[in-house]
Amino acid sequence: MERNPVNIVVHYDEIGLKGKNRPHFEHQLMRNIRRAFEGLGAVNTERLYGRVLVSLKARPPWDEVAGRMGRVFGISYFARAYESPCDLNVLKARVKEQLPKDEYESFAIDTKRSDKAFPLTSPEINRELGSFVQIETGKPVDLGNPDLRVCVEWLHDRVLFFFKRVPGPGGLPVGVSGKVVGLISGGIDSPVAIYLMMKRGCGVVFVHFHSFPFTDRASQRKVTELARELSHFRQMSKLYFVPFADLQREVASRTPASYRIILYRRFMLRLAEAIARRERAKAVITGDSLSQVSSQTLSNLTTVEEAITIPVIRPLIGLDKKEIISLAQKIHTYPISIQPHDDCCQFLMPRQPFTRSTSEELEEVEKDLDIRGLLDRTLAQAECHNLPR
Ligand code: ATP
Ligand code: MG
Repeated sequence: MERNPVNIVVHYDEIGLKGKNRPHFEHQLMRNIRRAFEGLGAVNTERLYGRVLVSLKARPPWDEVAGRMGRVFGISYFARAYESPCDLNVLKARVKEQLPKDEYESFAIDTKRSDKAFPLTSPEINRELGSFVQIETGKPVDLGNPDLRVCVEWLHDRVLFFFKRVPGPGGLPVGVSGKVVGLISGGIDSPVAIYLMMKRGCGVVFVHFHSFPFTDRASQRKVTELARELSHFRQMSKLYFVPFADLQREVASRTPASYRIILYRRFMLRLAEAIARRERAKAVITGDSLSQVSSQTLSNLTTVEEAITIPVIRPLIGLDKKEIISLAQKIHTYPISIQPHDDCCQFLMPRQPFTRSTSEELEEVEKDLDIRGLLDRTLAQAECHNLPR
């Protein structure tokens, strides 16, 4: 006998609000859900009046299902769901079959009816089904604080019911907000900044600058691990490794030491912009937080971003280190980020960088550099990797 698939009902809140774009958002969500379940057998997704029903033929263990659903942005909550035809007697029988054994002392029925043509109203269905469950189980109804909530969704062509809502990660489906380039350093902040943009629906191309062979490969290993961790939220990503040491040496030999960090940052952004053009990405993301270090004063952030024309988005700008760390812990990047690595920006760095720089000063300082040539030579050596799940 063929066994029933595991069904999951998926609810989203924000994407329900997008008017004419709603089908686009829903289709992206369904695509992302199907990708999230790759390797777990056939996955079917169906759009059902403001919710999505997912069916998994191979019946994978619930922990695996919940773990993967929990990483699909756009989901407000999901639940293991059961189906019945639109017939109250059949629904009663199915609910009885699925009622959990004994883990509850009281219950409530909570019906939502999309099919307004059905003769019974939601409160009437609640009462009918409630008295049936009460007689069957001998347990009392508690509308205020029930141990068990039987959620019933009465749709046009079927009824879904479930017992336990699991919160999803919220946000918007990755892909609906376009693509960005995420500058990832190996530190604590940039993975969090990238996570926040993915959560708002962005696909991310990761870019890391390293000074190998003058520093070790630890930063590249860490960044690969971090990008993989973040890629669980988005199934396919690219990671660029850009060798930065030759450019740094050239900058260091031709410019005053105190401007170096700003100049390095300007070059990072120019290279990121070139990669963004190639990848059709629309903005650059960094993990800067205001005044955390000298390169992040308001005037330095300004002169750094003046080097390029596409927007630089800094999702962490107003957060304290403590707040950033707590997010990093929540998304599991923290333990990777705190492993030691050589930061490429420490390479050829003075002790006391400027905290205030102006556009005029930077133009003057950069005039002896062959900017175009440096960018072309650096980009020619960049390696691009596809990240597997
Ligand atoms: P993080 O914890 O992300 O390293 P941070 O607070 O230590 O950030 P900086 O090291 O000054 O700050 O870097 C600011 C931002 O510049 C980083 O968040 C990252 O987006 C980008 N960045 C710095 N170094 C690199 C690098 N080697 N490769 C790619 N991006 C980098
Ligand atoms: Mg850093």
